[in-house]
Amino acid sequence: MRCRSCQREIGEGAQFCQSCGARQAGGGPGRRLMRSATDKKLGGVCAGLADYWDMDPTIVRIVWAFVTLLTGLVPGAIAYLVAWFLMPEAPYFSMPAAAPQAGAPGTGPA
Ligand SMILES: [Zn+2]
Repeated sequence: MRCRSCQREIGEGAQFCQSCGARQAGGGPGRRLMRSATDKKLGGVCAGLADYWDMDPTIVRIVWAFVTLLTGLVPGAIAYLVAWFLMPEAPYFSMPAAAPQAGAPGTGPA
């Protein structure tokens, strides 16, 4: 497949372009709904949803807060906690050009 931004050939199912770092829409077979490890205000649920839907995390947070307020706080809070509990956390290094480096010292938080 080709990067939708720079049109360079990138790996099949890649979520990020190795050349320009652009995130690829549509997602590959490895696309999963995961909490964001790098962009989170609380549990990373909203950022994870935003990532999955290819949206701005702030928009998701605003919508979530809005819906939560409209429904009387409890359903939204419960939904958040359930999502927090059920959604796996994304690998810490899920940013562009972050190919796993086996054996490299200092990868990930200790
Ligand atoms: Zn690119």
